Amino acid sequence: MNERIEQLLEEIRQAAAQLKDDAAVEAYRIAYLARKGKIAALFDELKNVPKEEKPAAGKALNTLRQNAQTLLGDAVAALAADQTGAAAGVDLSLPGRRPARGHMHIVSQTVDEISSIFRRMGFSIADGPEIETDYYNFESLNFPADHPARDMQDTFFLTKNHLLRTHTTPVQVRLMEKYQPPIRAIFPGKVYRNEVISARSHVQFHQVDGLFVDRDVTFADLKGTLVTFAKMYYGSSLKYRFRPSFFPFTEPSAEMDISCYLCGAKGCRVCKHTGWLEILGCGMVDPNVFASVHVDPEEYSGYAFGIGIERTAMLRHGLDDIRLLFENDMRVNKQFN
Ligand SMILES: [Zn+2]
Repeated sequence: MNERIEQLLEEIRQAAAQLKDDAAVEAYRIAYLARKGKIAALFDELKNVPKEEKPAAGKALNTLRQNAQTLLGDAVAALAADQTGAAAGVDLSLPGRRPARGHMHIVSQTVDEISSIFRRMGFSIADGPEIETDYYNFESLNFPADHPARDMQDTFFLTKNHLLRTHTTPVQVRLMEKYQPPIRAIFPGKVYRNEVISARSHVQFHQVDGLFVDRDVTFADLKGTLVTFAKMYYGSSLKYRFRPSFFPFTEPSAEMDISCYLCGAKGCRVCKHTGWLEILGCGMVDPNVFASVHVDPEEYSGYAFGIGIERTAMLRHGLDDIRLLFENDMRVNKQFN
């Protein structure tokens, strides 16, 4: 009996060393530990062992069963550890992975780039509230009540008097109330329009407005500054033109176009086959705006301009849908690293 127990123990040890998968574990359990397994068979034969040898043989059989169970437990634990490692793709011989680093969103990048160009030309950066009063958003900027010009900007009203600002232009009034000229600042920020969301318009976007007020500021100063900006941002070889336009808060007003660099001004979908891209609106500060902030238009003059950030980013990078900038699709965002 003892000899057969020794033999079986050796067999079990060798079998346990081969337990490489779940099927082998189950086969091992059936072969040795199940009710009809080899260990149980030896227990059945105990009745044939001479009486005086029975206690020792029984003890040896119990030890054999315990060993078989311990070997099985160890094999199952090792198997589970292997599977966890494999599932996590752990290869301890590989060098470590760098944690993924984020980057600025393209809208922020565009604000920063534009701001840095104007900073180099001596402009400081100013800020204002996104919830404005009717007075700052419209009235002080020469949009009188019931004036049709108000229809140019579909507005989200919060109360009769409060609204989500439709442009960053109100900051110029706040600055002129607070500081005496000379004032030279840009004010980037979020603006809101009650428009249908489409490829070309959104309810929320960004602008950067600028203002320069001092003695003897002329339209030539405006042109010099904006042409310098456009060449630094879009490239020094571009052509440009100023077209007459209308804004209530500037007089005269203009829009600035640059030659389409996407098609070499030959005409393409982005420039609507005109060869020109509209990049900003601008003009000389209207005397009515000066009057609302008690700046004497006989003594001072100034220019103002406004640039759409999303439009700028889309032109620069050839994007054709403004929604791409707000949907946070990482496949889009990651392209502007
Ligand atoms: Zn074009």
